Amino acid sequence: MNLNNYVYTFGDYLKSIYGKRVRKLTLHGSFSCPNRDGTLGTGGCTYCNVASFAEEQAAQQSVADQLLHRRSELRQKSSHYLAYFQAYTSTYGEISQLRQLYESALAEQDIVGLCVGTRPDCVPDEVLAILAEYQRQGQEIWLELGLQSAHDLTLKRINRGHDFAAYRDAVVRARRMGIKVCTHLIIGLPKETRNHHLSTLDKVLDTGVDGIKLHPLHIVEGSLLAKVWRRNKIQPPDLESYSQTAAEIIRRTPASTVFHRVSASARPPTLLAPQWCENRWNGMQRITEILAERGGQGSALNCPTSPPVLFKDSISYRFPNSAVCLPTDQVSQTGAHRTPSDFAR
Ligand code: SF4
Repeated sequence: MNLNNYVYTFGDYLKSIYGKRVRKLTLHGSFSCPNRDGTLGTGGCTYCNVASFAEEQAAQQSVADQLLHRRSELRQKSSHYLAYFQAYTSTYGEISQLRQLYESALAEQDIVGLCVGTRPDCVPDEVLAILAEYQRQGQEIWLELGLQSAHDLTLKRINRGHDFAAYRDAVVRARRMGIKVCTHLIIGLPKETRNHHLSTLDKVLDTGVDGIKLHPLHIVEGSLLAKVWRRNKIQPPDLESYSQTAAEIIRRTPASTVFHRVSASARPPTLLAPQWCENRWNGMQRITEILAERGGQGSALNCPTSPPVLFKDSISYRFPNSAVCLPTDQVSQTGAHRTPSDFAR
């Protein structure tokens, strides 16, 4: 069973544009985070330990050296890569610094675009203007926004330092400028139930989104939640409950939305719990089984399951079974990205 048969994956999306596999190379831009440097707070989000997914020593290396290193680590090379500024808040800097970092990645022959990970409250219009400029030049650009939950009480509880309104503001401004947004969500946050996760999805779709990344809550060494977990006060989701909720989210998401990821992993000893997160295939496999049984992406919305055809040259979206073909800067204004209300439930 193959996840791609049921989900519009980022890999499929990229293949439809470039005709081949495009790999992501993660970078550390030496950024900080306002939720850690004292601007908003010092403790960071309760689940976060950046060292669990980024190599801190990479911050000392040039972008070119990091890319060289990342390529060499891959068993299967490609001729096309996306540079992913992942660690900390990768828009948190002076415009000149951002330009220098982003453009040193884009200068490499085989880099076809950028994925920039950041917080919703750290994307002023000047930053979006740079990304929109790269996109107009034909680069593949994705703004990856950490939201995790659309519930303000939860955002407060996990110490995000921003609310849902800040997220909505960032998404509307970014998409109005034609920048594609991928939203990160966590399933299993403290005191959240499946209903919270599904209503988070509704709010994200109603706001408008191009991509979604799903993660299970996993407890990593060095995070604030690690202390709570050691006191037995929190239980991360088990494989079955995570997979059931993730599958339902996928089934309620329109077929035109790209899933950048449906599960995540970390390695011990950094990973404390749950154990099944040692291998991301565990989640992917179980989600695939559930979707095979109940129907794939969008099936709970009664929407078509085939993904949109994407044309790299015109940078426009064409939806199956429709004559709609719009430049990306009109997508958010026209509502061409379908929301749950467009489909009969
Ligand atoms: S998750 Fe992101 S925003 Fe939160 S503390 Fe970590 S780096 Fe900062």
